[in-house]
Amino acid sequence: MSKRDYYEVLGVSRSADERELKKAYRKLAMKYHPDRNPDDAEAEAKFKEATEAYEVLGDPEKRGAYDQYGHAAVDGSAGGGYGGAGAGNFSDIFGDVFGDIFGGAGGGPRGGPQRGSDLRYTLELSLEEAVRGTDKKIRIPTLVNCEVCDGSGAKPGTSPKICPTCNGAGQVRMQQGFFSVQQTCPTCRGQGKIIEDPCTSCHGQGTKEETKTLSVKIPAGVDTGDRIRLAGEGEAGAMGGPAGDLYVQVSVREHSLFHRDGRNLYCDVPISIVDAALGGELEVPTLEGRVKLKIPAETQSGKLFRLRGKGVTPVRGGAPGDLLCRVQVETPVNLNDEQKQLLMAFQESLTGEKHAPQKKSWFDGVKKFFEEI
Ligand SMILES: [Zn+2]
Ligand SMILES: [Zn+2]
Repeated sequence: MSKRDYYEVLGVSRSADERELKKAYRKLAMKYHPDRNPDDAEAEAKFKEATEAYEVLGDPEKRGAYDQYGHAAVDGSAGGGYGGAGAGNFSDIFGDVFGDIFGGAGGGPRGGPQRGSDLRYTLELSLEEAVRGTDKKIRIPTLVNCEVCDGSGAKPGTSPKICPTCNGAGQVRMQQGFFSVQQTCPTCRGQGKIIEDPCTSCHGQGTKEETKTLSVKIPAGVDTGDRIRLAGEGEAGAMGGPAGDLYVQVSVREHSLFHRDGRNLYCDVPISIVDAALGGELEVPTLEGRVKLKIPAETQSGKLFRLRGKGVTPVRGGAPGDLLCRVQVETPVNLNDEQKQLLMAFQESLTGEKHAPQKKSWFDGVKKFFEEI
């Protein structure tokens, strides 16, 4: 009997990744599982076929061999289904693929109190807010305990009953066909309890979606990536479990003047050719206002001037950083005829290389570069 192509069996493309394979196999296995299709030989065959395909394609080594050489390369290693060499492997695959559905892998009874999920909220701040600290109000959608039924999901005055199918365990063992598998109780869907008279406000859910407004205190000095934890402000727990936490993730917007790198701030300052040549005093911005910056004569473009302590005080403490001002010498534009004449006269007055500090070493470098080619 010639076998179908394993990719075709699972209904996936040849480039399918591990997750797609698993998903495809899971779907088929759920459909054709012998427990669900008692005394159905065709379903059983399909189940075996899908399992065999997944056994090969789910294993990167076997998949590589199969891709290259086809069925011949993997027959014998997987061909047996339950009885053959693949039998030992099979339970591993089964646990792996179904663990999270049937509660096999660390699931345990699900009927008990469950802690609510943690939530994450990304909070955008301006640089000033991040540096100085601020109070922010944020609005977050969240599940909260229903007030009417106090989270039980049952109509006030009534209470949920222990599920008779699983006796409150939330799980049942099915001993059928080939396997004994633990399954989520179909009667209570894993809750262990049945609500006969659901709360009309939350329709038996015990929780409701609400938007809540929270005040978040942002400490001075936070930076992008910092997290602020608000304990108990996450999603409400189920069955009386505690609420999760809310993590506020800080994201600092780019500033038009300052670039921040840790505790230091950087700022570009344009200066004129004349100020750069003769020296002068500039007014530069800091987060606390303007300060004077003395520029010495013969300042080159790109030079960094450090203003100590004008950076950011880190949120975890320590000395404040510095503000580093990088001067950018500007080429004058929109010159009139007279100004152009002055510049030409100025140019003619320059003699030799003594006015151009970088020119000689630059030309020497260029010369050397071409000599060495
Ligand atoms: Zn309710
Ligand atoms: Zn049950």
